[in-house]
Amino acid sequence: MLKLQKWFPGISASVIMLVSAAVCAVLVTVLAGGLVYSDTQKLISAAGIAEHSREVLSALQAASLNTERIEFRTRLYLLTGDGDQLSAARSEANQLDTAALHLKALVADNRGESGNMDNLAACTEALNHALNTLNTQSALPSTQILYCQETISLMSEQERRLLNARDQKSQHISTVSLVTEFAFIGLSLLTLVVLFGFLLRDALLRQRTEQQTLLTNEELAQSIKALEDQASESDLLTSARDELQLCVDLRQVYQSAANSFSRLLPQSSGSLCMINNSRQMVEVVSSWGKNLIESFSPPESCCGLRSGQPRWRQPGVSELHCSHFAAAPPEHYLCVPIVAHGDTMGVLCIECQDERSMLSLRERFDGLRQLLQLTGMAVASLNLQTKLENQSLRDPLTGLYNHHFMQIALGRELARASRHQSVLALFMLDIDHFKRFNDTYGHAAGDTVLKAVAEVFRSIVRGEDIVCRYGGEEFTIILPDIGEDIANQRAEAIRKSVEKLRVPLKTEDYAQVEVTVSIGVAFYPADGTSSDALLRMADEALYRAKREGRNRVSLAQRESAPERIGI
Ligand code: GH3
Ligand code: MG
Ligand code: MG
Repeated sequence: MLKLQKWFPGISASVIMLVSAAVCAVLVTVLAGGLVYSDTQKLISAAGIAEHSREVLSALQAASLNTERIEFRTRLYLLTGDGDQLSAARSEANQLDTAALHLKALVADNRGESGNMDNLAACTEALNHALNTLNTQSALPSTQILYCQETISLMSEQERRLLNARDQKSQHISTVSLVTEFAFIGLSLLTLVVLFGFLLRDALLRQRTEQQTLLTNEELAQSIKALEDQASESDLLTSARDELQLCVDLRQVYQSAANSFSRLLPQSSGSLCMINNSRQMVEVVSSWGKNLIESFSPPESCCGLRSGQPRWRQPGVSELHCSHFAAAPPEHYLCVPIVAHGDTMGVLCIECQDERSMLSLRERFDGLRQLLQLTGMAVASLNLQTKLENQSLRDPLTGLYNHHFMQIALGRELARASRHQSVLALFMLDIDHFKRFNDTYGHAAGDTVLKAVAEVFRSIVRGEDIVCRYGGEEFTIILPDIGEDIANQRAEAIRKSVEKLRVPLKTEDYAQVEVTVSIGVAFYPADGTSSDALLRMADEALYRAKREGRNRVSLAQRESAPERIGI
């Protein structure tokens, strides 16, 4: 086979074997056909020769019968003198002559019989002659008859032996032919079996290869799909991260996260829930698909938040339900806590339609976790930013803007008022006799009062007004775009509210203390156009209020005393 492969480079061994087996099968079939043809020819020829012998024997038998009849008729004639019998004997003798001629023609190819034929011709001639000269006085021509009979008998004997030999030869040819044919049939069957074996082996190999190709194709398709999924997931995560970085407040972060979750998990529903500042309540901040849950309390109502781990709720695996669903809880859902910097900030709840969508959610869980991490980090970063801003802009005790911010805000608001040609009011507020209060109740109680008063200020002014702690127990309030009358009313309202305020102290007798404020009011542009000028005017007004008895509102005193304008 290796040699064959050298002759036919590039052709596989199995193909060479297959072609060899096919060639063998064809050769064996052709040989078998040739052999059958040749054997058949031989058998036909042998049968023809045997038939010829039988014909000779039959002719000899007829000649023998002729001879017997000649003897019988001749005897009858000699006994009875019946001329008809003689005629019949002569006719039979003629027939014998004809038979002899016929036999001569039949055995012309047989040299062994030619001598006998000559004898038979001679004896029939002699017999004919004897019969032609026969009369009632003549003796029976028994010598000629006997001679004829012996010659015929000898010839018959020889022909019978010949026939036997020919029969045996024919038999032999037939046996050899049969054996060879069976041998060739066997050989043909063997080559066919070998050929079939090769074809079957090839077919099985092809079938196995096809199955393997199918399997490989399927695996390839799955890998391609997984890669595509990974690529689209990675694209989604990149765009989600970019979008989260653009968010300037938590509301935007929550909305952007919900959008990204819905894109990552199409045909799903979910809610993003965050734990509030008091850590008592979990608020739904954004959602996609169906509205699954409402804000809930306490946070432990959610099994995911309770365990601090992603929690897959699935029949037959984990039966326990969270108690935060608005309606009947779904059969399949996932609750993943949102953690950033080790702090659990909330939970993401996702509903799965069925077992299959839960399985696909599990497949996308890595992407989900990354997206959740990005969301958590964005929330934490915004919280931190707000905290830092508060620390740099706000007073830590009261939560009001600090002196530094007040300076910036006043400059900005004055510029805006100048642009819009609007009036701006500036309140300067100071708690009355606060030193005495501190001395009486202590510094901590003083702090409590500062916080309570700051809350009053915040609650009375508008959203756009800027309340600041100027320093110690002094405060400023910037009220942009306001009429003087309204501003005065607002200052008076603040004073009255503080006056009514009863601050509960954590002292032994739980005393409720009273407190009052004095307020100095100055207006842009009437009392000053710069920050310093306006602050000075408001401060002067405040000290006048102090001098005039405290717990009152005092307006800045204008040199030219222009008319006060209201909006
Ligand atoms: P008045 O303004 O009515 O003239 O009298 P006052 O006692 O309020 O006057 P003063 O400005 O002299 O006293 C301010 C006091 O405020 C002094 C200080 O002990 C107190 N104080 C300043 N900052 C704080 C603070 O952060 N906490 C507390 N508890 N007290 C403060
Ligand atoms: Mg003071
Ligand atoms: Mg004071």
